[in-house]
Amino acid sequence: MRYLITGGAGFVGSHLAEKLLERGDSVVLLDNLSTGSMENIRHLKSFERLQYHLDSIENKQVLAELVDDADIVVHLAAAVGVRLIVESPVRTIETNVNGTQLILEAAHKKRKLVLTASTSEVYGKNTQVPFHEDADLVLGPTTKGRWSYAASKALDEFLALAYWKEKKLPVIVVRLFNTVGPRQTGRYGMVLPSFVNQALEHQPITVYGSGKQSRCFCDVRDTVGGLIRLMDCERAIGEVVNIGNTEEITIEGLAQVVKERTQSRSEIVYVPYEQAYEPGFEDMQRRVPCVDKLHALTGFRPQTPLSEIVDRVSAYFREKRAAAAAPRTVASSAD
Ligand code: UDP
Repeated sequence: MRYLITGGAGFVGSHLAEKLLERGDSVVLLDNLSTGSMENIRHLKSFERLQYHLDSIENKQVLAELVDDADIVVHLAAAVGVRLIVESPVRTIETNVNGTQLILEAAHKKRKLVLTASTSEVYGKNTQVPFHEDADLVLGPTTKGRWSYAASKALDEFLALAYWKEKKLPVIVVRLFNTVGPRQTGRYGMVLPSFVNQALEHQPITVYGSGKQSRCFCDVRDTVGGLIRLMDCERAIGEVVNIGNTEEITIEGLAQVVKERTQSRSEIVYVPYEQAYEPGFEDMQRRVPCVDKLHALTGFRPQTPLSEIVDRVSAYFREKRAAAAAPRTVASSAD
């Protein structure tokens, strides 16, 4: 099979590409490197079955050609990270809404299966955890920037499902819950890479708000496993499916786990939301997926324990820091 992955140089995209290449598929990546990076896919360049295009999905001609050549389109290109969204709401809304529309339009012309990534953010302030796919979406007011992300992704979902209902374009919508692992950068404010970097530097670990809010962290290998199984599953077409781990932890609990597992001397500090994001910022208190539907469709549930995930992420950042330090060591020994 030949997969076109938009956002393929991003964190999830690069892991998906890796897995598909390993199992013998061909992969074409389309990425404008706005948040993705060549670093994420450098290790894949030796695969002859990999092609990459550093271009925007808004380049309609390139997109049409790439969709034409692909068997399946995986649409992961999106504005990511709450901080980015609070800082650049125009870009968030435009990228998410226009991008998905262009993908669906192009795929429809050639009748290609589209898997499009949505987010657990769409459940918003719903308090009825675990979140089932048919639960109400409870969003805050439009005056609060963070909700633009959820609203734009919800619109993407409506559009994808409408293409399925009205035009019989085969689509699968996945709602990704907090996904973590090597290659995720802390640059866009995501909590685990931020905490691990802080811990490795013995800097204060910054817990936002009370730290009593909770999340479930899913290893990116499990996320990718879920995505691939869904794309291989005829019954997933026209469906919305959660992908996430169900092991729940508070953010202050996460800070503690990271501190312990990295044997860090960091202190854990609490930062008010208005200082971390913007005045009036609203956070989700709990976010837990129900993954019964994923399991019913594919027989799979993400289960990598948090301790293992934290160790993998720490090992990744340790290696990265060692590699960054290495040239200086060589230079100084040559002096
Ligand atoms: N968070 C934190 N410290 C950080 C970054 C994030 O306490 O340095 C909190 C954030 O306020 C949220 C949780 O960690 O409650 C998860 O944040 P993230 O941006 O990773 O994902 P979200 O679940 O908000 O999409």
